[in-house]
Amino acid sequence: MPLSDSYDGFLIDLDGVVWLGHDPIEGSAEALNRLAAEEKPVVFVTNSPRITPAEQARILQEHGIDASQDQVVTAGQTLIELTEGAVGKGAKIYAIGTSGFLGQLQDAGFDLMSAERWSEAAAVLVTAHPRFDYEELKAATMAVRAGAFLATIGRDPTMPMPDGLWPGTGSIVAAVETASGGSAVVAGKPEKPIFELGLKVLGLPGEARVAMVGDRLDTDVGGAQNAGIDGILVTGNDSWAPGTKVTPNHEIESLLALVK
Ligand SMILES: [Mg+2]
Repeated sequence: MPLSDSYDGFLIDLDGVVWLGHDPIEGSAEALNRLAAEEKPVVFVTNSPRITPAEQARILQEHGIDASQDQVVTAGQTLIELTEGAVGKGAKIYAIGTSGFLGQLQDAGFDLMSAERWSEAAAVLVTAHPRFDYEELKAATMAVRAGAFLATIGRDPTMPMPDGLWPGTGSIVAAVETASGGSAVVAGKPEKPIFELGLKVLGLPGEARVAMVGDRLDTDVGGAQNAGIDGILVTGNDSWAPGTKVTPNHEIESLLALVK
């Protein structure tokens, strides 16, 4: 009996589970299409700040996976809700991240400050991007020291890419916290807000058996268990944080092993 028969629905991580960087992981599309054929609901839950749910759904479709944007929950969405709650809609903020991430914040109505105008920012939002530099670290530090709300999408220290692990948002957040003395509020995995949003979108009744499938023991499995659902660890990649004191409910080599 495949492991998928033990559950009514799944939250599924993307990086390190469905693909590695831009490279699809063999069998993941087949596994997801089999779950769809069995009418097991799936919601993709990702800490990636780079793209919107609509763009994420399009990339899934390009990988041969039948997914809609309503099946994608990002830490970016969760962060926007959380920041609006803290400093209000349309607030002046200072944000570090890719142009895609900054675009999502602008689309949500926030007024983005340049590094020179850090003193006007009510909040500082931090994510990784390839051109992170000292000026950004300085502006974020000064704003937080002046009392700005500090938040991020997650604390993943690395992100899996085809040639190894690259520095992730957690590394950049650590730099801002070290310099500012502040402590960031976290929207994404392993904190509860993104799991709660994922379960809401999944739409199953409270007694349903739901598992999170992810490649990180700390963020995916630990976070799922904190949110009250099972955590299934995908062990086929390098990113599963083996030092973490969390016991997964199940371990599988790849997503395909879930349905076979
Ligand atoms: Mg992952």
